[in-house]
Amino acid sequence: MALIELQQVSKIYRKGRQEIPAVTDFDLTIQQGEFTVLAGPSGSGKTTVLNLMGGLDRPSHGSVMVDDRRLETLADGALADFRLQSIGFIFQAYNLIPVLTAEENAEFILLLQGVPEKERRRRVDDLFKKLGMDGLQQRRPNDLSGGQQQRVAIIRAMSAAPALIIADEPTANLDTKTSRNLLEIMQELNTSTGTTFVFSSHDPLVIEYASRVIGLKDGVLENDSRDCA
Ligand code: ADP
Ligand code: MG
Repeated sequence: MALIELQQVSKIYRKGRQEIPAVTDFDLTIQQGEFTVLAGPSGSGKTTVLNLMGGLDRPSHGSVMVDDRRLETLADGALADFRLQSIGFIFQAYNLIPVLTAEENAEFILLLQGVPEKERRRRVDDLFKKLGMDGLQQRRPNDLSGGQQQRVAIIRAMSAAPALIIADEPTANLDTKTSRNLLEIMQELNTSTGTTFVFSSHDPLVIEYASRVIGLKDGVLENDSRDCA
């Protein structure tokens, strides 16, 4: 089943009188359960495409269908609701709240969704165990390593069982060992839960792990390749 369908999508940023075409006539279908990376040099439009898929930005032209919703037709409130219910974001800078514990950070989305406390704890604790983080629930972000903070961000994104996880350059600030570890965790979650993952990256390691690589250049889809293994 197609989870994401971009049809003839263009995004033009306006800076005063200047028009910057970030993405042009972009067509892309991603099936449920894929583990896909958008690859390409800086400025090729990766972040723009991710932001359109995640409902963080709107297309200038074209149609963006995600999880059975046509995002360009949604009003701002409905789009915010779509993001909360359907998308898990893993940001480069983790965006953990320093005064909250790891567990409180992890259950933040569930709290916004109105999930009762007991259920929040159960879901989050399961993921702490699964990701080798059991016992660290009460630590604050500053008392965790970079890799551990990254895992808290993954737990936060995964806990609400979103249809799609989006991660913009997830390994950008990580060393090779931590990057591999992160990719293995995400791959395992992809396999065991069937959650769809879309990354952006120009890191060869991310490309090695991905099952589909979509190459972007100057805002245009240049190539699309799947693992034949
Ligand atoms: P990537 O993530 O591959 O580096 P981006 O999607 O961030 O690429 O950017 C694509 C193009 O759009 C670039 O030329 C960039 O300068 C431009 N761009 C991105 N965001 C904005 C913005 N908010 N305002 C103006 N131009 C932007
Ligand atoms: Mg980017």
